[in-house]
Amino acid sequence: CGIVGYIGDKKAAPILLSGLKKLEYRGYDSAGIAIQEEEGIKLVKKQGKLNELNMAAEKEIFSGFTGIGHTRWATHGKPSDRNSHPHTDSVDEIVLVHNGIIENFSELKESLVADGMEFTSDTDTEVAAHLISKYYNGDLRTAVNKAITKLEGSFAMAVMSKTENDRIIAVRKDSPLIVGLGKNENFLASDIPAYLDYTDDFYILENEEMADIRKDKVEIYSFSGSLIADKNSTKINWS
Ligand code: GLU
Repeated sequence: CGIVGYIGDKKAAPILLSGLKKLEYRGYDSAGIAIQEEEGIKLVKKQGKLNELNMAAEKEIFSGFTGIGHTRWATHGKPSDRNSHPHTDSVDEIVLVHNGIIENFSELKESLVADGMEFTSDTDTEVAAHLISKYYNGDLRTAVNKAITKLEGSFAMAVMSKTENDRIIAVRKDSPLIVGLGKNENFLASDIPAYLDYTDDFYILENEEMADIRKDKVEIYSFSGSLIADKNSTKINWS
């Protein structure tokens, strides 16, 4: 029920885990993170409280500067390690986290299985990973944009690719998502409190907007693919 993301000069894992902690109030049954490491995308996910994930993450060495994280409130597929997010495609090119429900997942799954994709979870979410992978041709934003035209339902998603390890694509449809803006670093979360310790400047994504997030640049696009050049950020004022 929560999404976080980080891209910048700092190690991503602790920043993702701290963001997930701040989103705990939203409720969840499992949690996970995926980090861009030199040897590829590294993933840890666990059913249960964040403490389970923290303990599993402590056993790994994470050095990467880009990553995404998730707390899950299961809707399709029981709470378990394998159904926890992030989810990947069959060739581990695409990794993503999702909040919401993909209503037409069973038709999509049928045709993706017929195409030879191998599913490793019982979630509705996993179809999105395979679909984006199917459309992926070296440009993640284009692939995500094509895939979401096939998805029905509600989805906030954060997507990374192994090839373009300096980029996170986030989409918002009927499920909230914000982008926190920093200096040589940017953040992604379901809600502002996740990263108020790091920045006070946010893009609040509107419905059917997509963010193309790099460490030194954030671009907002509409689902129709056009750049929203006049998107204003919101300054959160403490006083
Ligand atoms: N429908 C997805 C699942 O069951 C996402 C649930 C959520 O929003 O956490 O895995």
